[in-house]
Amino acid sequence: VPELPEVAIFKQYLDATSLHQVIAAVQVHSPRVVEEMQPQELVAQLEGRTFESTWRRGKHLFVALDDGNWLAWHFGMTGQLKYYKLADKEPDYVQMQFDFVTGYHLAYVMPRKLGQIALVEDPDDIIERKNLGPDALRMSYTDWNEALSGRRGMVKSTLMNQQILAGIGNIYSDEILYQARLHPRIKINTLGAKTTEQLYKVMQEVLAKAIECRADPGRYPDSYLTPRRQEGAACPHCNGKVQRIKVSGRSGYFCPQCQKTRTSA
Ligand SMILES: [Zn+2]
Repeated sequence: VPELPEVAIFKQYLDATSLHQVIAAVQVHSPRVVEEMQPQELVAQLEGRTFESTWRRGKHLFVALDDGNWLAWHFGMTGQLKYYKLADKEPDYVQMQFDFVTGYHLAYVMPRKLGQIALVEDPDDIIERKNLGPDALRMSYTDWNEALSGRRGMVKSTLMNQQILAGIGNIYSDEILYQARLHPRIKINTLGAKTTEQLYKVMQEVLAKAIECRADPGRYPDSYLTPRRQEGAACPHCNGKVQRIKVSGRSGYFCPQCQKTRTSA
């Protein structure tokens, strides 16, 4: 599932491949991915344009066009980008594709038809529509304290709530709580100031490390839980057994020995 680190990598990928090339044609294979507009209208607005720069907020990628509009991109559960030239390299599950005059193609690939693309005048249109909180990686410690102020939910649900802070989903909330040695069901308002500050630091470290590892769990440090997210897997810290836990309807993973329920300092 693309969370903040994956989308940060998509951003780097798009920046490295697809900027400043005139879009000759746009193919919409799955009209459902186009939000708030008829697909043919989106196509008409994009043909002849170029992608000029990109910006990210949480799990949303925004691509600035040379006419001042923005393409807002959400990757759903399984979306990714694939840049290629030769027809025999065309990936499976292309939902939408940009054909550049250079002969290259940028494909939006998604085995499951979720995720959305919208044309907006400003990223704020989406941020306001979805009431997105501050970006989890760019938020300052002051932003963090403001975001958490008055919240009473479980710490895992709080981290995953895009309206409180944007970018973290099921997988990275598990990793952050594992690294912070906090039980996923601890109430956020019972954490002391020191623990809250520690959680902020761990969150930033985990997100930065994941991006540095190109969001590839195979490259994550041996001390990370993510490559071992399955019931009964060995905890890399205590060698105990990783367990599944339901939090707000989502199945997360944690180590009961390392992440005990406790009231903290
Ligand atoms: Zn453990």
